[in-house]
Amino acid sequence: MDEAIRYMRGITEAPLPYGRRLQEETGGKVVGYVCSYVPEEIIVAAGAHPLRLFGPTGSWERVDAHLQSYCCSVVRGVLDTGLKGEGDFLAGMVFPHTCDSIQRLSDLWRMNVAHGFHLDLVLPVKLHTASAREYYLDVLRRFRSELGERLGVAIGDDALREAHETLRGIRRLLGEIYELRSHAPALLPGDDLLSVVKAVMILDRREAGELLRRVVNGLKGQRAAAEEAPPPGRSSPPGGREAKRLILAGGLCNHPRLHGLIEAAGGAVVWDDMCSGTRYFHAPDAATAEDDSPGAGKGDPLAAIAARYLNRDVCPAKHRGLTNRAEALLSQIRERRARGVIFPHLKFCDPHAFDYPYLKNALERENIPHLLLEIDEPQPAEGQIGARLEAFLEML
Ligand code: SF4
Ligand code: SF4
Repeated sequence: MDEAIRYMRGITEAPLPYGRRLQEETGGKVVGYVCSYVPEEIIVAAGAHPLRLFGPTGSWERVDAHLQSYCCSVVRGVLDTGLKGEGDFLAGMVFPHTCDSIQRLSDLWRMNVAHGFHLDLVLPVKLHTASAREYYLDVLRRFRSELGERLGVAIGDDALREAHETLRGIRRLLGEIYELRSHAPALLPGDDLLSVVKAVMILDRREAGELLRRVVNGLKGQRAAAEEAPPPGRSSPPGGREAKRLILAGGLCNHPRLHGLIEAAGGAVVWDDMCSGTRYFHAPDAATAEDDSPGAGKGDPLAAIAARYLNRDVCPAKHRGLTNRAEALLSQIRERRARGVIFPHLKFCDPHAFDYPYLKNALERENIPHLLLEIDEPQPAEGQIGARLEAFLEML
């Protein structure tokens, strides 16, 4: 298991070289994307490889000519990748209509990046109405045909079913890892968990499935061994106290040491509502039931794929009722016995900034402590984040 995790961590540290290698070694088509609302299943069914771009950190000297400084680091980093030609191995890019910044990134990419095709996925904003369902299915049908055209393949129903199964398997394994860790967070350091989830969005999905199985088996083995004889020093944070259970809520976590800092301060993240976490794989029971119902997968495979994306946990760029996000967060807090919530906030991320006051009010009505941590490029000093975390955890 440790070797699998080390490998996955390495992939998250150098995603573009991995994508380039994959393209060169297999001759396959690599398709870039920037948000978990892109239906990876259809890209996999086309025989291509979906590669998520996270907006690499570093110097973005070229983006200033195109973007205002008040734009999030994810969009700045992704555009920089395109402008520098670092993504020239990509067969194309897919942009979903989600937050305004991603929509404008799509325009900028189309106008300024010459390599590969460019596709927009004009998704509905409201996801819980009957018309949204119809509309969403139409969007998927159109995407299937446009992507097939760009890649020069016909995307058949059987290939879609197979890809849906592959992705469903991956989501189940990620869910298992989260559940195991939610019961015993000391089984896997949070920074490793973050690497595992992000690596899956980069890796060849079949390889990812294999690696995840190794991680799940390793964790189960560790849990069984710990039940027999708890290993000293691995079940509790420094000082021997039990870690304080927390939930992370926000967009993308691009800080590779955030979990480590939380753990060093005496906490443990036992669940999250993040784009670099559960939003990639989790769906409420209704979606799973619908997805798994007898006959599902035998009918229109696009309908089964649509069910997952329409019913998954929404981010603030989408809408499923006025209180849906707060209810989902409160329900996870109760289920996971969390004592507080940390909101890691990427500077200039408007959807999450607009969402925060409403979530904060919902938590305060239930007397649940929370902490807003602004994290962006250049990242704040670890000592500074650590001090705020310690003060917050002390208060719990
Ligand atoms: S917050 Fe929403 S729009 Fe932004 S990257 Fe995540 S899923 Fe996509
Ligand atoms: S959701 Fe926020 S962080 Fe993600 S791309 Fe949009 S503005 Fe940037």
